[in-house]
Amino acid sequence: MASFDVDKRRVRRLSDQRGPVRRALWAAFIYVLFGTVWVAFSDRLVEHWFPASDALTVVQTWKGFLFVLLTGAVLFAVTLRQLNKDRKLLRLQHNQRQALRKRERQLSVLMDNLPGMAYRCRFDEYWTMLFVSQGCERLTGYRPEELVNNRSVPFADLIAGEDINEQLTGDVQAALEKEEPFSLEYPLIRKDGREIWVWERGRGVEDDGGELVLEGIVLDISDRKALEDELEELAIRDPLTGLFNRRETTRLLDEEVKRAKRYGRSMAVLWIDFDHFKEINDTHGHAAGDRVLVSTSQLLSESVRSVDIVGRFGGEEFVIILPEMDVREAQETAERLRQKVGDTRISLDNGESVRLTISVGVAVYPEHGIDPARLCAAADRAMYSAKTEGRNRVVMAVRPMSAEETTDTLEPSASNNDKR
Ligand code: GH3
Ligand code: MG
Ligand code: MG
Repeated sequence: MASFDVDKRRVRRLSDQRGPVRRALWAAFIYVLFGTVWVAFSDRLVEHWFPASDALTVVQTWKGFLFVLLTGAVLFAVTLRQLNKDRKLLRLQHNQRQALRKRERQLSVLMDNLPGMAYRCRFDEYWTMLFVSQGCERLTGYRPEELVNNRSVPFADLIAGEDINEQLTGDVQAALEKEEPFSLEYPLIRKDGREIWVWERGRGVEDDGGELVLEGIVLDISDRKALEDELEELAIRDPLTGLFNRRETTRLLDEEVKRAKRYGRSMAVLWIDFDHFKEINDTHGHAAGDRVLVSTSQLLSESVRSVDIVGRFGGEEFVIILPEMDVREAQETAERLRQKVGDTRISLDNGESVRLTISVGVAVYPEHGIDPARLCAAADRAMYSAKTEGRNRVVMAVRPMSAEETTDTLEPSASNNDKR
């Protein structure tokens, strides 16, 4: 790098063309001055020293030879110096070209082996590509020449979704205003129609014409994204049944209660516990118990609306959140689920089958509780009442006695027709 800079300085010095006419005029002026002085004074001196005309003629001749010899020597020295300079300049230019070609080769090897593609594009509505590296085909399925200058398709068309495109434009604009690089993550549709996730890192630069362009790299992060999604899913799902786990169910319940409060709607919580489940385990084994848990979970999920949330709270306890359901609807739903589970025989791997019943406690916002904790407690208590009353039944929660528990309640609505 340092030697490259020295070379550059030398080339600049050698190729300095400032005032060549002025320098040439100086040389001619000195020559004319020297010649005039020589002609004017040398003749007088010679005449003074050699008054005899024979000797004077010979001396004049030798004086002419001397002048030619001197000017020839000067011309030789100047020409040699100039030719040496030219040769040095040519050699330096040659070395520079070689170094440049080597760097270009290294750069293109580097870019072609990137796990994605390098690009330069305009910051316009099409993300018009001015250059893309060979990795483009591996990443998008399009050859570089198909994308450059939007020849086959503009890069903007590969970005899945108009709204995402707008968001990306906003993000890039914000980074450019702050004169910072930008990082983006977005889904991209390949030529074969497959969707992949990419990560892009770039920055705004001025091209030779002073136009603002973007330069950066785009990498395929689909594997990382899939792993992230899987981890996210694992964090919120119960591994045995695939239902939401306790933490996620609690979070969703919080959300639903907030929504119900905001919009002045009702909502219900069903607290479900399997009856005598231990006996199934004891009789048929733990694996058969698992099988029953999975089958019943599926049955519960399939028997509710898509907006309803089914979660496994632990063991064989399940919570179902029913948004926008009043007391009567919630009771009907719980009753329907109880009957359905009770009517379904579950086949075990050993060829036998079992029948299971459930006890359900029902609590409704805002009648039985105005926050998630009170709702859950009310539903749990109702479920235990169902157990003590003989199991295989639905029990509605009891309205709280104290007034402050329901101060934060809904406006009275036609849907709140609790008969209890
Ligand atoms: P009841 O609720 O009607 O009072 O009786 P129960 O027999 O269901 O009693 P309880 O709810 O207290 O017991 C739950 C049993 O569920 C105890 C435990 O062995 C079993 N269990 C909890 N989690 C699992 C699980 O993941 N797999 C299996 N196979 N069994 C489980
Ligand atoms: Mg039980
Ligand atoms: Mg239990």
